Amino acid sequence: RAKEQGGNSFSFFVPEMHQAAIERSHLETDLRGALEKNQLMLYFQPKVDGNADIQGFEVLLRWCHPQRGIVSPADFIPIAEATGLIVPIGEWVLNAVCQQLRQWQNDPQRCHWRLAVNISERQLSHERFVQSVRDILKDHDFDQNLTTKLEFEITESMLMKNIEHAVASIRELNSMGIQFAMDDFGTGYSSLNYLKMLPLDCVKVDQSFVRDMLVDQSDAAIVEMVIALAKAMQLVVVAEGVETYEQHKLLVGLGCDQMQGYYYGKPAPIEQITSQQSLKAIAF
Ligand code: C2E
Ligand code: MG
Ligand code: MG
Ligand code: MG
Repeated sequence: RAKEQGGNSFSFFVPEMHQAAIERSHLETDLRGALEKNQLMLYFQPKVDGNADIQGFEVLLRWCHPQRGIVSPADFIPIAEATGLIVPIGEWVLNAVCQQLRQWQNDPQRCHWRLAVNISERQLSHERFVQSVRDILKDHDFDQNLTTKLEFEITESMLMKNIEHAVASIRELNSMGIQFAMDDFGTGYSSLNYLKMLPLDCVKVDQSFVRDMLVDQSDAAIVEMVIALAKAMQLVVVAEGVETYEQHKLLVGLGCDQMQGYYYGKPAPIEQITSQQSLKAIAF
């Protein structure tokens, strides 16, 4: 049959799984060249307080692929992790973030802005991770004050593999001044255990709880509980995935310190953010 159809019809026999593997290996090949070809870009999404004043940004990677357009990190971070490419990519991100913090340092309206970088399991478990962070901070001449503007977002799931090493690295980086946030809080297996064990400064309520908190009582209860818990532990609590005014109002009413989501601003290139005069999020 394949022969009758001619051309590329051999692909008729390629099972779907195989197709996905081929697709992935193409992406992998392209990703290897992405750094040197300057295809990686950082987007910034504001974190705001109850008055919608910007307190800082989460930095989110984008890959501008010449044929595919903008590839989401959900599609290429797993490949970067599996291949180890996340290590040089992560170093590139950190360099860019340090540069940005330097630029804001002498701007009285922006010098308090913090930048949060996502760190994945493979990075944190890398034996040279702490040293490479130290080297980068040194390259940018960071003092303790600038270093505290830098935040690492980690997830619970990434700690599972080698917990002793992860905790030791986190403690050491924290002692240098880097702040730590527990990302996607509540979605892992031992959330409370990690809260107790790690030197955290911040917890981010996962967006899945925020999404339905106005219609689902359980979600509302979880959000309320996490905010209360964070307060009791003197942690900054950030709600992710805020998309509506009603969610904003409810979160502020519950005493949530900071919010992040499309309602205040979608992730965007830094020029788009700094070209805007207002220091408030876009919606206000
Ligand atoms: P994350 O750290 O939990 O980031 C939050 C994700 O939620 C981002 O997706 C963001 O664009 C999206 N988001 C923000 N506000 C809203 C909202 O109001 N509604 C909805 N539906 N979504 C919202 P994104 O940018 O696709 O990133 C996905 C994940 O990729 C991140 O999850 C993070 O784990 C990872 N990632 C992104 N950049 C990096 C990076 O530089 N390094 C590493 N290791 N991982 C990264
Ligand atoms: Mg994050
Ligand atoms: Mg998150
Ligand atoms: Mg996530």
